Amino acid sequence: MIRRFCSFCLVAVFVFSATAAFAQDRPFHVLAFYSTNVEQDHVDFAMQAIPFFQAVAKRDHFDFKATSNWNDMNPDTLKQYQVVLWLDDAPSTAAQRVAFQNYMEHGGAWLGFHIAGWMDNREVWPWFADFLGTMFSGNSWPPLPATVTIDDPTSPIVKSLPHSFLSPANEWYSWKPDPRQTPGIKVLMTLAPSNFPIGFKDTLVGGDIPVTWTNTKYKMIYTNMGHGDKILTSAVQNRFFENALLWLGGREQ
Ligand code: ZN
Repeated sequence: MIRRFCSFCLVAVFVFSATAAFAQDRPFHVLAFYSTNVEQDHVDFAMQAIPFFQAVAKRDHFDFKATSNWNDMNPDTLKQYQVVLWLDDAPSTAAQRVAFQNYMEHGGAWLGFHIAGWMDNREVWPWFADFLGTMFSGNSWPPLPATVTIDDPTSPIVKSLPHSFLSPANEWYSWKPDPRQTPGIKVLMTLAPSNFPIGFKDTLVGGDIPVTWTNTKYKMIYTNMGHGDKILTSAVQNRFFENALLWLGGREQ
């Protein structure tokens, strides 16, 4: 009887382990959108981000494709992908915007970098302003490194990161309203007070300036990094980009 029970245990453990391993390695498909006719510093980031994420995809066993055709933002194409990235631009036509909204409202996932969150007129795309939880207010110039602090170390998206780290040179944005005050927004990273004032030509003088957040009504992460060719030079920050994409792809962290 004891012998039979143990055999059952072994089978159960084996099945559980196999299921866990399957979930951990579950394949998913990522489509990254980028443009080459936008601000050069943003193109520079996109051109480095594509091979970076290709390497991550190989290591973590998911599928990664990139396209500069924003008309791929259509229902037939989007339904083939579990995660969409905007590396250096945003949809510009009504059809692209509606396709993205429907995708996100039906279980799609999104990782947006830097200029992806740039919108200073709500009327351009009201749904996106609500989705992001805020709008662009100001920026720092020239690009400078900044200390970023982690808001919630228990979040699976950032839990493996140190409490704070030096994020490589970037043009930093400020926001209005403060996304931390928007219902449903969970801030993950914030510019540390020690950075201020940051910038010379354009200066952010202080206040609460979130850098990375998620709107908990959707499967989405916005992160302000993404300007210039230094963004991917921090191993810590790169780990965040990798974790963020795996979390969006449904992998356990
Ligand atoms: Zn920029």
